[in-house]
Amino acid sequence: MNYLITGGAGFIGSHLADSLLADGHSVSIIDDLSTGSIKNIAHLRTHPRFHYVINSMMNASLLGEMVDAADAVFHLAAAVGVKLIVESPVRTIETNIQCTELLLAIAAKKGKRVLVASTSEVYGKSTDIPFRETGDLVMGPTNRGRWSYACSKAIDEFLAIAYWHEKRLPTVVVRLFNTVGPRQTGQYGMVIPRFVQQALAGEPMTVYGDGTQSRCFTHVSDTVRGLRGLMDHDGATGQVYNIGNNQEISILGLAERVRELTGSRSEIQYIPYAIAYEESFEDMPRRVPCTDKIRAAIGWEPRHDTDEILRAVIESFQGTALAAAR
Ligand code: UDP
Repeated sequence: MNYLITGGAGFIGSHLADSLLADGHSVSIIDDLSTGSIKNIAHLRTHPRFHYVINSMMNASLLGEMVDAADAVFHLAAAVGVKLIVESPVRTIETNIQCTELLLAIAAKKGKRVLVASTSEVYGKSTDIPFRETGDLVMGPTNRGRWSYACSKAIDEFLAIAYWHEKRLPTVVVRLFNTVGPRQTGQYGMVIPRFVQQALAGEPMTVYGDGTQSRCFTHVSDTVRGLRGLMDHDGATGQVYNIGNNQEISILGLAERVRELTGSRSEIQYIPYAIAYEESFEDMPRRVPCTDKIRAAIGWEPRHDTDEILRAVIESFQGTALAAAR
């Protein structure tokens, strides 16, 4: 198969490209490197079945050609990371909605299957744990920047589903729960790369709020297996699926575990949300996926627990530090 990955130089997109290429497929990516990095795909640049284009996917004629050449599209390009979203809401809203609108319109003309990556952020402040795909989405007010991310991705979901119902474009929507692994950067706020880098450098570990908020972290290889499984599963068309681990850990517990696994003596520093993000910032106290639906559809289960994820991330940052020192 010939796959197009939008956002293919990003953390998840580049792992997806690796996996597809390893199974003999051809992969084209388009990425504007806004949050992705050429480093993520450097090892693939000379691969005979890999083709990359560094450009905006808002370039409609280019995107049209790339969709034409593909059998199916993984749409991963988006503005991500809570820090980036709070700091650049216009970019977040415009990127997330306009890119998806354009891609779906083009794919509909050409009849190409599209998997749209969404996010567990769409569940917002819901307390109906575990989050099921049919559950209500509970957003905060529009003067709090964070919610623009959830709303923009929810619009993407509505669009993808509407394209299936109205135009018979085969689409699948996937809500990703805190995917983590090597190549993820802490630059846009993601907690695990931040904690690991802080611990390895012996710097204070910045726990926002009181650290009792919890998350479930998913290894990127589990996420990639879920994305591919749903892309290949005809029964997933027009549906929404959670992909996430259900091993829950508090953020303070996470900081302590990173400290133990790195042997670091970093202290834990509590930072109020208003300073970390913005005044009146709202965080989710818990976020746990129900994965019954994806299990029933394709038998998907996460294979890596939080400790394995942390070890993989620690090793990758240690490897980078060693390479830089040479
Ligand atoms: N967080 C933290 N310290 C950091 C970065 C993040 O305590 O340096 C917290 C953040 O407030 C949230 C959790 O870790 O409660 C996960 O944050 P992340 O941005 O990785 O993902 P989110 O689940 O918020 O999308």
